[in-house]
Amino acid sequence: MSALFDFAVVGAGISGSATAYELAKRGHSVVLIDQYGPASMASGWTLAGVRQSGRHKAEMPLARAAVERWQTLGNELEGETHYRQVGNLRCARNDEEADRIAAIVAEHRALGLEMHLVTGKEVQEIAPMVSPDVVCASFCPTDGHADPHATVKSFVDAATRLGAETRFGELVTALEITEGKVSGVVTVKGVIAAGQVVVATGIYGNKLIGRFGYHVPYEVMSATMMRSVATPAPQMPVIGVANGDTTLRQEVLGQFRIGGGHEVWDGHLELDPWPQVRPPASSVAELIKRYSALVPELAGVKLDRLWCGLIDQTVDALPVLDILPEAGGIVLATGFSGHGFCLGPVTGAILADLAEGATPDLPIEPFRMSRFAGVAVSSTVELHG
Ligand SMILES: Cc1cc2nc3c(=O)[nH]c(=O)nc-3n(C[C@H](O)[C@H](O)[C@H](O)COP(=O)(O)OP(=O)(O)OC[C@H]3O[C@@H](n4cnc5c(N)ncnc54)[C@H](O)[C@@H]3O)c2cc1C
Repeated sequence: MSALFDFAVVGAGISGSATAYELAKRGHSVVLIDQYGPASMASGWTLAGVRQSGRHKAEMPLARAAVERWQTLGNELEGETHYRQVGNLRCARNDEEADRIAAIVAEHRALGLEMHLVTGKEVQEIAPMVSPDVVCASFCPTDGHADPHATVKSFVDAATRLGAETRFGELVTALEITEGKVSGVVTVKGVIAAGQVVVATGIYGNKLIGRFGYHVPYEVMSATMMRSVATPAPQMPVIGVANGDTTLRQEVLGQFRIGGGHEVWDGHLELDPWPQVRPPASSVAELIKRYSALVPELAGVKLDRLWCGLIDQTVDALPVLDILPEAGGIVLATGFSGHGFCLGPVTGAILADLAEGATPDLPIEPFRMSRFAGVAVSSTVELHG
Protein backbone atom coordinates (compact mmCIF):
# COMPACT_ATOMS: atom_id res chain seq x y z
CA MET A 1 0.00 0.00 0.00
CA SER A 2 1.40 3.42 -1.00
CA ALA A 3 1.46 6.51 1.24
CA LEU A 4 -1.91 7.96 2.17
CA PHE A 5 -2.86 11.03 0.16
CA ASP A 6 -5.58 13.43 1.25
CA PHE A 7 -6.95 13.35 -2.30
CA ALA A 8 -6.54 11.23 -5.42
CA VAL A 9 -7.65 12.88 -8.66
CA VAL A 10 -8.27 10.53 -11.57
CA GLY A 11 -7.86 12.14 -15.00
CA ALA A 12 -5.32 14.77 -16.02
CA GLY A 13 -7.47 16.67 -18.49
CA ILE A 14 -8.25 20.29 -17.68
CA SER A 15 -10.89 19.32 -15.07
CA GLY A 16 -8.65 16.96 -13.09
CA SER A 17 -5.49 19.04 -13.44
CA ALA A 18 -7.28 22.18 -12.26
CA THR A 19 -8.72 20.21 -9.31
CA ALA A 20 -5.30 18.84 -8.33
CA TYR A 21 -3.93 22.40 -8.46
CA GLU A 22 -6.76 23.80 -6.30
CA LEU A 23 -6.40 21.07 -3.71
CA ALA A 24 -2.60 21.42 -3.57
CA LYS A 25 -2.99 25.21 -3.26
CA ARG A 26 -5.26 24.64 -0.26
CA GLY A 27 -2.47 22.70 1.45
CA HIS A 28 -3.61 19.13 0.82
CA SER A 29 -1.51 16.18 -0.29
CA VAL A 30 -2.69 15.18 -3.76
CA VAL A 31 -1.95 12.56 -6.35
CA LEU A 32 -3.02 13.15 -9.97
CA ILE A 33 -3.36 9.94 -11.98
CA ASP A 34 -3.86 9.46 -15.71
CA GLN A 35 -3.83 6.35 -17.86
CA TYR A 36 -1.88 8.29 -20.52
CA GLY A 37 -0.78 11.80 -19.54
CA PRO A 38 -1.89 15.44 -19.33
CA ALA A 39 -4.37 16.63 -21.98
CA SER A 40 -4.19 13.31 -23.81
CA MET A 41 -7.91 13.11 -24.55
CA ALA A 42 -10.63 15.81 -24.90
CA SER A 43 -8.48 18.51 -23.27
CA GLY A 44 -5.90 18.04 -26.02
CA TRP A 45 -8.31 17.32 -28.89
CA THR A 46 -10.44 20.40 -28.18
CA LEU A 47 -10.92 23.56 -30.21
CA ALA A 48 -10.30 25.38 -26.89
CA GLY A 49 -12.73 28.23 -27.26
CA VAL A 50 -13.18 30.17 -24.02
CA ARG A 51 -16.70 31.39 -24.41
CA GLN A 52 -19.84 32.37 -22.61
CA SER A 53 -21.86 32.82 -25.81
CA GLY A 54 -23.86 29.82 -26.96
CA ARG A 55 -24.12 28.55 -23.39
CA HIS A 56 -27.15 27.03 -21.71
CA LYS A 57 -28.36 29.42 -19.01
CA ALA A 58 -27.46 26.89 -16.29
CA GLU A 59 -23.80 27.08 -17.33
CA MET A 60 -23.69 30.84 -17.75
CA PRO A 61 -22.65 31.73 -14.15
CA LEU A 62 -19.80 29.21 -14.39
CA ALA A 63 -18.73 30.42 -17.84
CA ARG A 64 -18.70 34.04 -16.73
CA ALA A 65 -16.71 33.22 -13.60
CA ALA A 66 -14.33 31.16 -15.74
CA VAL A 67 -13.75 34.02 -18.19
CA GLU A 68 -12.90 36.27 -15.21
CA ARG A 69 -10.44 33.68 -14.00
CA TRP A 70 -8.83 33.17 -17.44
CA GLN A 71 -7.71 36.84 -17.43
CA THR A 72 -5.08 36.18 -14.77
CA LEU A 73 -4.74 32.40 -14.92
CA GLY A 74 -1.31 32.39 -16.59
CA ASN A 75 0.10 34.71 -13.90
CA GLU A 76 -1.52 32.70 -11.14
CA LEU A 77 -0.09 29.42 -12.49
CA GLU A 78 3.23 31.04 -13.46
CA GLY A 79 2.88 29.31 -16.79
CA GLU A 80 1.52 29.81 -20.32
CA THR A 81 -2.14 29.56 -21.26
CA HIS A 82 -1.89 31.63 -24.48
CA TYR A 83 -5.31 33.00 -23.55
CA ARG A 84 -6.54 35.64 -25.99
CA GLN A 85 -9.75 37.59 -25.41
CA VAL A 86 -10.42 38.24 -29.10
CA GLY A 87 -14.21 37.69 -29.11
CA ASN A 88 -16.49 35.12 -30.69
CA LEU A 89 -18.26 35.73 -33.98
CA ARG A 90 -21.10 33.32 -34.75
CA CYS A 91 -22.07 33.72 -38.38
CA ALA A 92 -25.37 33.27 -40.23
CA ARG A 93 -24.87 31.80 -43.71
CA ASN A 94 -28.53 32.20 -44.70
CA ASP A 95 -31.79 33.73 -43.48
CA GLU A 96 -32.75 30.70 -41.43
CA GLU A 97 -29.46 30.87 -39.55
CA ALA A 98 -29.93 34.63 -39.18
CA ASP A 99 -33.20 33.98 -37.26
CA ARG A 100 -31.39 31.51 -34.99
CA ILE A 101 -28.53 33.97 -34.36
CA ALA A 102 -30.97 36.78 -33.55
CA ALA A 103 -32.71 34.49 -31.03
CA ILE A 104 -29.36 33.54 -29.40
CA VAL A 105 -28.43 37.22 -29.07
CA ALA A 106 -31.79 38.04 -27.47
CA GLU A 107 -31.55 35.09 -25.04
CA HIS A 108 -28.01 35.97 -23.99
CA ARG A 109 -28.62 39.67 -23.63
CA ALA A 110 -31.55 38.81 -21.35
CA LEU A 111 -29.05 36.88 -19.23
CA GLY A 112 -26.89 40.02 -18.99
CA LEU A 113 -24.14 38.95 -21.40
CA GLU A 114 -22.63 41.62 -23.63
CA MET A 115 -23.48 40.31 -27.07
CA HIS A 116 -24.27 42.17 -30.28
CA LEU A 117 -26.17 41.31 -33.43
CA VAL A 118 -23.87 42.62 -36.18
CA THR A 119 -24.63 43.15 -39.87
CA GLY A 120 -22.74 41.50 -42.72
CA LYS A 121 -20.86 44.79 -43.25
CA GLU A 122 -19.86 44.91 -39.58
CA VAL A 123 -18.69 41.29 -39.81
CA GLN A 124 -16.25 42.44 -42.51
CA GLU A 125 -14.91 45.15 -40.18
CA ILE A 126 -14.45 42.71 -37.27
CA ALA A 127 -13.03 39.83 -39.32
CA PRO A 128 -12.25 40.76 -42.95
CA MET A 129 -11.31 37.15 -43.78
CA VAL A 130 -14.92 35.98 -43.31
CA SER A 131 -16.97 35.58 -46.49
CA PRO A 132 -18.94 38.68 -47.58
CA ASP A 133 -21.87 36.26 -48.11
CA VAL A 134 -22.36 36.04 -44.33
CA VAL A 135 -25.74 37.64 -43.64
CA CYS A 136 -25.16 38.70 -40.03
CA ALA A 137 -23.52 37.38 -36.86
CA SER A 138 -23.53 37.50 -33.11
CA PHE A 139 -20.43 39.01 -31.56
CA CYS A 140 -19.41 38.49 -27.95
CA PRO A 141 -16.29 40.62 -27.35
CA THR A 142 -15.41 39.02 -24.01
CA ASP A 143 -15.08 35.50 -25.43
CA GLY A 144 -11.79 34.15 -26.73
CA HIS A 145 -9.56 31.09 -26.75
CA ALA A 146 -6.48 29.54 -25.18
CA ASP A 147 -3.94 26.83 -25.86
CA PRO A 148 -5.16 23.58 -24.31
CA HIS A 149 -1.83 21.72 -23.99
CA ALA A 150 -0.07 24.76 -22.53
CA THR A 151 -2.90 25.41 -20.08
CA VAL A 152 -3.13 21.85 -18.78
CA LYS A 153 0.67 21.70 -18.49
CA SER A 154 0.60 24.93 -16.48
CA PHE A 155 -2.01 23.48 -14.11
CA VAL A 156 0.01 20.27 -13.67
CA ASP A 157 3.29 22.16 -13.19
CA ALA A 158 1.72 24.51 -10.64
CA ALA A 159 0.16 21.58 -8.75
CA THR A 160 3.51 19.79 -8.76
CA ARG A 161 5.36 22.85 -7.46
CA LEU A 162 2.83 22.89 -4.62
CA GLY A 163 3.72 19.29 -3.79
CA ALA A 164 1.20 17.25 -5.80
CA GLU A 165 2.46 13.92 -7.10
CA THR A 166 1.68 12.63 -10.57
CA ARG A 167 1.24 9.09 -11.82
CA PHE A 168 1.01 9.12 -15.61
CA GLY A 169 0.67 5.97 -17.71
CA GLU A 170 -1.29 4.34 -14.86
CA LEU A 171 -4.86 3.17 -15.50
CA VAL A 172 -7.27 3.26 -12.56
CA THR A 173 -9.31 0.07 -12.67
CA ALA A 174 -11.54 0.47 -9.60
CA LEU A 175 -12.39 2.57 -6.59
CA GLU A 176 -11.25 1.16 -3.26
CA ILE A 177 -14.09 1.28 -0.72
CA THR A 178 -13.72 0.59 3.01
CA GLU A 179 -16.84 0.37 5.16
CA GLY A 180 -18.87 2.24 2.58
CA LYS A 181 -16.40 5.14 2.24
CA VAL A 182 -13.86 5.58 -0.53
CA SER A 183 -10.34 4.86 0.68
CA GLY A 184 -8.35 5.10 -2.54
CA VAL A 185 -8.10 3.72 -6.03
CA VAL A 186 -6.90 0.48 -7.53
CA THR A 187 -4.58 0.93 -10.49
CA VAL A 188 -2.79 -1.47 -12.80
CA LYS A 189 0.22 -0.99 -10.51
CA GLY A 190 -1.49 -1.45 -7.12
CA VAL A 191 -3.58 0.47 -4.61
CA ILE A 192 -3.18 4.20 -4.02
CA ALA A 193 -4.68 5.10 -0.65
CA ALA A 194 -6.48 8.42 -0.39
CA GLY A 195 -9.00 10.00 1.96
CA GLN A 196 -11.16 11.22 -0.94
CA VAL A 197 -11.25 10.63 -4.70
CA VAL A 198 -12.22 12.94 -7.56
CA VAL A 199 -13.05 11.19 -10.84
CA ALA A 200 -12.68 13.48 -13.89
CA THR A 201 -12.28 10.88 -16.60
CA GLY A 202 -14.10 12.49 -19.55
CA ILE A 203 -15.68 9.93 -21.89
CA TYR A 204 -14.84 7.17 -19.41
CA GLY A 205 -16.90 8.85 -16.69
CA ASN A 206 -19.20 5.83 -16.30
CA LYS A 207 -16.48 3.18 -16.03
CA LEU A 208 -15.59 3.44 -12.34
CA ILE A 209 -19.11 4.11 -11.05
CA GLY A 210 -21.15 1.42 -12.84
CA ARG A 211 -20.67 -1.22 -10.16
CA PHE A 212 -22.35 1.12 -7.65
CA GLY A 213 -25.47 1.40 -9.81
CA TYR A 214 -24.68 4.82 -11.31
CA HIS A 215 -24.91 5.64 -14.99
CA VAL A 216 -24.66 9.06 -16.63
CA PRO A 217 -26.74 9.00 -19.83
CA TYR A 218 -24.24 10.28 -22.36
CA GLU A 219 -23.28 9.21 -25.82
CA VAL A 220 -19.73 9.56 -27.13
CA MET A 221 -19.64 11.71 -30.24
CA SER A 222 -16.68 12.01 -32.56
CA ALA A 223 -15.93 15.47 -33.99
CA THR A 224 -13.66 16.00 -36.98
CA MET A 225 -10.78 18.39 -36.33
CA MET A 226 -7.86 19.71 -38.34
CA ARG A 227 -5.03 22.19 -38.10
CA SER A 228 -3.46 24.29 -40.84
CA VAL A 229 0.16 25.24 -41.14
CA ALA A 230 1.01 28.70 -39.79
CA THR A 231 -0.43 31.52 -41.86
CA PRO A 232 0.46 35.22 -41.72
CA ALA A 233 -3.24 36.16 -41.26
CA PRO A 234 -3.90 38.72 -38.51
CA GLN A 235 -5.36 37.38 -35.26
CA MET A 236 -9.14 37.23 -35.42
CA PRO A 237 -12.06 36.22 -33.19
CA VAL A 238 -13.13 32.61 -32.82
CA ILE A 239 -15.41 32.03 -35.81
CA GLY A 240 -18.43 29.75 -35.69
CA VAL A 241 -21.84 29.25 -37.26
CA ALA A 242 -25.38 28.96 -35.95
CA ASN A 243 -25.56 25.15 -35.93
CA GLY A 244 -21.94 24.61 -34.80
CA ASP A 245 -20.96 22.59 -37.89
CA THR A 246 -17.90 24.79 -38.53
CA THR A 247 -15.69 26.52 -35.95
CA LEU A 248 -12.19 27.85 -36.17
CA ARG A 249 -9.70 29.81 -34.19
CA GLN A 250 -6.18 30.95 -34.85
CA GLU A 251 -3.44 29.68 -32.58
CA VAL A 252 -0.78 32.11 -31.33
CA LEU A 253 1.75 31.03 -33.95
CA GLY A 254 -0.76 31.49 -36.78
CA GLN A 255 -2.10 27.96 -37.35
CA PHE A 256 -5.86 27.62 -37.73
CA ARG A 257 -7.50 24.96 -35.58
CA ILE A 258 -10.72 24.00 -37.31
CA GLY A 259 -13.55 21.68 -36.28
CA GLY A 260 -17.09 20.61 -37.03
CA GLY A 261 -19.23 17.66 -37.98
CA HIS A 262 -20.20 15.10 -35.34
CA GLU A 263 -21.12 11.46 -35.47
CA VAL A 264 -21.56 8.72 -32.90
CA TRP A 265 -18.11 7.29 -32.08
CA ASP A 266 -17.63 3.71 -33.32
CA GLY A 267 -15.45 2.87 -30.29
CA HIS A 268 -12.21 2.59 -32.28
CA LEU A 269 -9.18 4.26 -30.68
CA GLU A 270 -5.53 3.83 -31.65
CA LEU A 271 -2.55 4.39 -29.37
CA ASP A 272 0.19 6.12 -31.30
CA PRO A 273 1.50 6.41 -28.50
CA TRP A 274 -1.25 8.86 -27.43
CA PRO A 275 -4.91 8.02 -28.06
CA GLN A 276 -5.97 8.90 -31.59
CA VAL A 277 -9.21 8.62 -33.53
CA ARG A 278 -8.94 9.05 -37.28
CA PRO A 279 -11.62 11.13 -39.04
CA PRO A 280 -13.45 9.59 -42.01
CA ALA A 281 -12.30 11.04 -45.36
CA SER A 282 -15.87 12.13 -46.13
CA SER A 283 -16.08 14.26 -42.93
CA VAL A 284 -12.71 15.84 -43.72
CA ALA A 285 -13.84 16.70 -47.26
CA GLU A 286 -17.14 18.16 -46.02
CA LEU A 287 -15.43 20.27 -43.36
CA ILE A 288 -12.89 21.64 -45.87
CA LYS A 289 -15.81 22.62 -48.11
CA ARG A 290 -17.62 24.37 -45.23
CA TYR A 291 -14.68 26.35 -43.85
CA SER A 292 -13.50 27.35 -47.33
CA ALA A 293 -16.95 28.85 -47.98
CA LEU A 294 -16.99 30.59 -44.58
CA VAL A 295 -13.41 31.91 -44.75
CA PRO A 296 -12.46 31.88 -48.45
CA GLU A 297 -8.82 32.83 -47.77
CA LEU A 298 -8.40 29.44 -46.09
CA ALA A 299 -9.42 27.51 -49.23
CA GLY A 300 -6.35 25.55 -50.23
CA VAL A 301 -4.44 26.23 -47.00
CA LYS A 302 -2.08 23.34 -46.16
CA LEU A 303 -3.20 21.13 -43.29
CA ASP A 304 -0.59 19.66 -40.96
CA ARG A 305 -2.84 17.53 -38.72
CA LEU A 306 -6.19 15.71 -38.84
CA TRP A 307 -7.84 14.10 -35.84
CA CYS A 308 -11.15 13.40 -34.13
CA GLY A 309 -12.07 14.68 -30.70
CA LEU A 310 -14.41 12.58 -28.57
CA ILE A 311 -17.22 14.32 -26.72
CA ASP A 312 -19.16 13.03 -23.69
CA GLN A 313 -22.57 14.27 -24.83
CA THR A 314 -25.23 14.00 -22.13
CA VAL A 315 -28.94 13.96 -22.94
CA ASP A 316 -29.35 17.57 -21.75
CA ALA A 317 -25.87 18.67 -22.93
CA LEU A 318 -24.92 19.65 -19.37
CA PRO A 319 -22.21 18.07 -17.20
CA VAL A 320 -22.41 16.16 -13.95
CA LEU A 321 -20.60 17.80 -11.02
CA ASP A 322 -21.64 15.89 -7.94
CA ILE A 323 -20.88 13.66 -4.97
CA LEU A 324 -21.98 10.03 -5.35
CA PRO A 325 -22.94 8.67 -1.91
CA GLU A 326 -23.37 5.07 -3.11
CA ALA A 327 -19.86 5.10 -4.62
CA GLY A 328 -18.14 5.79 -1.31
CA GLY A 329 -18.85 9.53 -1.53
CA ILE A 330 -16.51 10.21 -4.47
CA VAL A 331 -16.75 13.41 -6.51
CA LEU A 332 -17.59 12.97 -10.20
CA ALA A 333 -17.13 15.35 -13.12
CA THR A 334 -18.12 14.15 -16.57
CA GLY A 335 -20.47 14.87 -19.46
CA PHE A 336 -19.16 18.31 -20.41
CA SER A 337 -20.81 17.82 -23.82
CA GLY A 338 -18.22 19.74 -25.81
CA HIS A 339 -17.93 22.82 -23.59
CA GLY A 340 -15.80 21.91 -20.59
CA PHE A 341 -12.53 23.57 -21.61
CA CYS A 342 -13.60 27.13 -20.85
CA LEU A 343 -15.07 25.99 -17.54
CA GLY A 344 -11.88 24.15 -16.47
CA PRO A 345 -10.54 26.72 -14.00
CA VAL A 346 -13.87 26.97 -12.15
CA THR A 347 -14.56 23.24 -12.47
CA GLY A 348 -11.32 22.71 -10.54
CA ALA A 349 -12.46 25.02 -7.74
CA ILE A 350 -15.94 23.45 -7.61
CA LEU A 351 -14.59 19.89 -7.49
CA ALA A 352 -12.06 20.88 -4.82
CA ASP A 353 -14.90 22.39 -2.73
CA LEU A 354 -17.03 19.25 -3.11
CA ALA A 355 -14.05 17.03 -2.28
CA GLU A 356 -13.39 19.05 0.89
CA GLY A 357 -17.05 18.77 1.86
CA ALA A 358 -17.63 22.50 1.29
CA THR A 359 -20.44 24.15 -0.67
CA PRO A 360 -19.24 25.77 -3.91
CA ASP A 361 -20.01 29.49 -4.34
CA LEU A 362 -21.31 28.90 -7.87
CA PRO A 363 -24.73 27.28 -8.50
CA ILE A 364 -24.28 23.61 -9.35
CA GLU A 365 -27.80 22.32 -8.70
CA PRO A 366 -28.46 21.82 -12.46
CA PHE A 367 -25.46 19.48 -12.63
CA ARG A 368 -26.64 16.95 -10.04
CA MET A 369 -26.69 13.28 -10.97
CA SER A 370 -30.26 12.93 -9.66
CA ARG A 371 -31.69 14.83 -12.65
CA PHE A 372 -31.13 11.73 -14.75
CA ALA A 373 -33.25 9.39 -12.68
CA GLY A 374 -35.11 7.22 -15.22
CA VAL A 375 -33.60 8.95 -18.27
CA ALA A 376 -32.27 6.85 -21.17
CA VAL A 377 -29.47 7.74 -23.59
CA SER A 378 -30.58 9.50 -26.74
CA SER A 379 -28.43 10.26 -29.75
CA THR A 380 -29.77 13.79 -30.08
CA VAL A 381 -26.83 16.17 -30.15
CA GLU A 382 -27.34 19.63 -28.84
CA LEU A 383 -24.01 21.40 -28.80
CA HIS A 384 -24.66 24.78 -27.24
CA GLY A 385 -22.55 26.47 -29.90
C1 LIG B 1 -13.39 18.46 -30.76
C2 LIG B 1 -13.71 19.15 -29.48
C3 LIG B 1 -13.93 20.52 -29.46
C4 LIG B 1 -14.21 21.16 -28.25
N1 LIG B 1 -14.35 22.52 -28.24
C5 LIG B 1 -14.50 23.16 -27.05
C6 LIG B 1 -14.52 24.56 -26.98
O1 LIG B 1 -14.33 25.26 -28.00
N2 LIG B 1 -14.69 25.15 -25.77
C7 LIG B 1 -14.88 24.41 -24.63
O2 LIG B 1 -15.06 25.00 -23.57
N3 LIG B 1 -14.85 23.07 -24.68
C8 LIG B 1 -14.66 22.44 -25.85
N4 LIG B 1 -14.62 21.07 -25.89
C9 LIG B 1 -14.86 20.31 -24.68
C10 LIG B 1 -13.68 20.27 -23.77
O3 LIG B 1 -12.47 20.11 -24.48
C11 LIG B 1 -13.87 19.13 -22.77
O4 LIG B 1 -15.16 19.26 -22.17
C12 LIG B 1 -12.83 19.17 -21.68
O5 LIG B 1 -11.53 19.19 -22.24
C13 LIG B 1 -13.01 17.95 -20.78
O6 LIG B 1 -11.95 17.92 -19.88
P1 LIG B 1 -11.90 16.76 -18.81
O7 LIG B 1 -10.66 17.00 -18.03
O8 LIG B 1 -13.18 16.70 -18.07
O9 LIG B 1 -11.80 15.42 -19.66
P2 LIG B 1 -10.58 14.87 -20.55
O10 LIG B 1 -9.77 15.96 -21.11
O11 LIG B 1 -11.14 13.86 -21.48
O12 LIG B 1 -9.67 14.14 -19.49
C14 LIG B 1 -10.00 12.91 -18.92
C15 LIG B 1 -8.70 12.20 -18.59
O13 LIG B 1 -8.99 11.07 -17.80
C16 LIG B 1 -8.10 10.04 -18.15
N5 LIG B 1 -8.72 8.78 -17.76
C17 LIG B 1 -9.92 8.29 -18.15
N6 LIG B 1 -10.18 7.13 -17.52
C18 LIG B 1 -9.11 6.88 -16.72
C19 LIG B 1 -8.80 5.82 -15.81
N7 LIG B 1 -9.65 4.81 -15.60
N8 LIG B 1 -7.61 5.86 -15.17
C20 LIG B 1 -6.74 6.88 -15.36
N9 LIG B 1 -7.01 7.92 -16.21
C21 LIG B 1 -8.18 7.92 -16.86
C22 LIG B 1 -7.94 10.20 -19.65
O14 LIG B 1 -6.74 9.60 -20.10
C23 LIG B 1 -7.97 11.70 -19.82
O15 LIG B 1 -6.66 12.26 -19.86
C24 LIG B 1 -14.31 20.41 -27.08
C25 LIG B 1 -14.07 19.04 -27.09
C26 LIG B 1 -13.74 18.41 -28.28
C27 LIG B 1 -13.42 16.94 -28.26
